[in-house]
Amino acid sequence: MKRKAGQDRSITANWRPATLAIRGGTARSEYGETSEALFLTSGYSYDKAADAAARFAGEQEGMTYSRLQNPTVEMLEHRIALLEGAEACRTMATGMAAMTAALLCQLQTGDHVVAGRAAFGSCRWLTDTLLPKFGIQTTIVDARDPQAFLDAARAETKLFFFETPANPTMDIVDLRAVCDIARERGIKTVVDNAFATPALQRPMEFGADITAYSATKMMDGQGRVLAGAVCGSEDFILNTLLPFTRNTGPNLSPFNAWVVLKGLETLDLRIRRQSESAVTVGRFLEARVPRILHPGLPSHPQHELAMSQMDACGPIFALEVEGREQAHALLDALALVDISNNIGDSRSLITHPASTTHYGVAEEKRIEMGVTEGLLRLNVGLEDPRDLIDDLDQALTAAGL
Ligand SMILES: *Cc1c(COP(=O)(O)O)cnc(C)c1O
Repeated sequence: MKRKAGQDRSITANWRPATLAIRGGTARSEYGETSEALFLTSGYSYDKAADAAARFAGEQEGMTYSRLQNPTVEMLEHRIALLEGAEACRTMATGMAAMTAALLCQLQTGDHVVAGRAAFGSCRWLTDTLLPKFGIQTTIVDARDPQAFLDAARAETKLFFFETPANPTMDIVDLRAVCDIARERGIKTVVDNAFATPALQRPMEFGADITAYSATKMMDGQGRVLAGAVCGSEDFILNTLLPFTRNTGPNLSPFNAWVVLKGLETLDLRIRRQSESAVTVGRFLEARVPRILHPGLPSHPQHELAMSQMDACGPIFALEVEGREQAHALLDALALVDISNNIGDSRSLITHPASTTHYGVAEEKRIEMGVTEGLLRLNVGLEDPRDLIDDLDQALTAAGL
């Protein structure tokens, strides 16, 4: 592998994100291919036994086994780290593998975690069920209020864990305020940045220590593969995350890494267009439904905060109708927008979280999180927004709205 400009930090230092998304991390083989090569290999061979010994001893550069290194996966990790402005990144098989690794690699029995209340269902399972099983206490707070983190912090608090915008009610966390509180107390922050991606929001610029991703969402962006990533300082990645992941093996397949590399090339274009369309569709819906939770619209109580830390609002927002019956009637009447619990796709998708993504969350916790029976989450895709509005218009009418 030839190390090319895309891997050399001194050359990439001045490149802007849209350039990094296409060029960052590129390492070409001796064939000089323009696209990233796909290395579907589990292992590597050595010319001499002494070479194998030297590589295992860390005295010779080179790869030994794809649970530890893979050229295609490394290209993706370099690219995401450059986009994030992070010293290092490691990818995982899924977003949940990334969240689990980011938490477990640095926690132990007796530690305490403060986590945001509005969160992806499985993230709440990690904080509410998995961590306590290992004697790690968690306090769940309304993450919209930075003071809530301060009030919940104890001497043994190790981490603040939250997402912004948060799934599915679009709560916004004040990144600067919460990261400042954490820094002053020696607490690390882990930010799930799946909704915004580094194209719109870079939490480390506000003081976050670690960002974690479901790359399944906007990074792939075309609904094809599952993937995850964790970004942080080189010290954290090499000395804390890697010992955990090299031995537990939540690795991303090289094929899926290659697909995400292709997805990143259009991330900037897609997320900006989808954000614009989300505002257009949101304005239409605002006049037709009882309630809309949309960080890109002034009616969102944290609109100004959202726009002060994000370049654009992203493709996802929530709306509320009368209850489950009306929500399901609206979904069933749609002809273009798909009923799907996924997000971050180039296709427009709508879901009813209470009966799908948050089905496993106890009812009282769902209500506390704002996941009511009438709540719907819409992912605005790359279709012409006029066609989306036409479809929503007829479905709203059919549902009696
Ligand atoms: C989808 C999602 C996850 C989980 O990612 P997977 O790739 O599905 O495992 C975690 N956090 C947020 C905010 C998500 O949207």
